[in-house]
Amino acid sequence: MQTKKKVVIVGAGPAGLGAASELARNESFEVIVLERNSEPSYKVCGGGIHPDFIKDFVSQDVLDREFEKILIKTPRSTYTMKYDKNIFMGTLNRKKLNEELTKKAEKAGAQVLFGKAVKEIQKDKVLTTNGEEFSFDYLIGADGATSVVRKSLNIPTENFIITYQYIIPGDYENVEIHVDFKKFGITYSWIFPQKGVISVGTGYSSAEEKSPGDVKKLRENFDAWCKERFSLEGARFEGFTINYDYRGFEFGNVYLCGDAGGFASGFTGEGMKPAILTGIDVARKIQDPNYKCINVEAYLAIKKREEGILKLLISRPWGRLFTPIAAHLANSNWIKKMLFKFIDMSSKMKNTGP
Ligand SMILES: Cc1cc2nc3c(=O)[nH]c(=O)nc-3n(C[C@H](O)[C@H](O)[C@H](O)COP(=O)(O)OP(=O)(O)OC[C@H]3O[C@@H](n4cnc5c(N)ncnc54)[C@H](O)[C@@H]3O)c2cc1C
Repeated sequence: MQTKKKVVIVGAGPAGLGAASELARNESFEVIVLERNSEPSYKVCGGGIHPDFIKDFVSQDVLDREFEKILIKTPRSTYTMKYDKNIFMGTLNRKKLNEELTKKAEKAGAQVLFGKAVKEIQKDKVLTTNGEEFSFDYLIGADGATSVVRKSLNIPTENFIITYQYIIPGDYENVEIHVDFKKFGITYSWIFPQKGVISVGTGYSSAEEKSPGDVKKLRENFDAWCKERFSLEGARFEGFTINYDYRGFEFGNVYLCGDAGGFASGFTGEGMKPAILTGIDVARKIQDPNYKCINVEAYLAIKKREEGILKLLISRPWGRLFTPIAAHLANSNWIKKMLFKFIDMSSKMKNTGP
């Protein structure tokens, strides 16, 4: 009997669990996922996702809210974005997402082991902080923005967004995106209503010229902006990094996907969908070295476009003008058509999933 190839996946987030479900269905592979948390857990996130996409992977229960429109607000105006064909955006519960994706991976045949924090990567094995060793034929780094697998490959992370949010108890009607150069620089602030709580957050992009004072100023501006709208009593403050610094995903028998690979958007901060889809691609590549990684390629094309937008945003004075003009144009039918074509294109990527 042919021996199974061992695949160790570090991280049980959307990327790692997406890869595990795809690979474990193939009986030629033994798939082990190592997760440092003691159970499928919450991850700091606004929870914004396109519902049509995520419903292909998990049940409706994971979704908190669905919205027909989003409001884009500049200091002077409010613009309404409505997607004629469908619900525009949803928010989901990150703990439930990880729970369902874990069950799915286990059902496919993967072993998902919790309480296993990987601290060291050697040529053919990983070592955990509690002294265990797991040997591998293939290793997948799906361990997020502070990936130890990425570090073991000596890949730097220079392009990132320091992102933080208040989780505020209560309800709110609409999804809102606030663009205001004076307050938030090239990033934006969001209001994403979830079930019984509201995620209100912003980010600091490494693409901006920065000094420690700028980061402090952003926090002060953000706090003042929040307090104008919400009572922060009982709110939880939290933050994490988003890595959008892509530098390759295949390094011999070691692969990177999701935030570990820098697949998140440097423009919007969206990272769950790229995580699942690049996890699937990596799993398919391991099964078939000739597989063309269509999701990875699609994201690299999107990233190239975003890089252009980021360059424009940091250039002065055009950057300052770009966002309000873009928000204004977003109201025109022509731009809407383009945007929705892009959403259609991007949601078609789900067809490549399991
Ligand atoms: C404030 C904030 C708001 C965001 N809002 C959105 C949003 O609205 N929509 C969106 O699409 N994206 C959003 N993102 C980005 C999104 O959360 C990430 O892009 C996404 O979670 C990446 O998935 P992943 O599987 O690659 O990594 P993760 O979800 O980070 O999963 C990595 C897993 O690896 C585990 N791990 C890490 N190190 C080790 C180790 N050494 N050993 C074992 N396990 C380890 C972690 O515990 C974790 O479970 C947001 C991010 C932040 C910080």
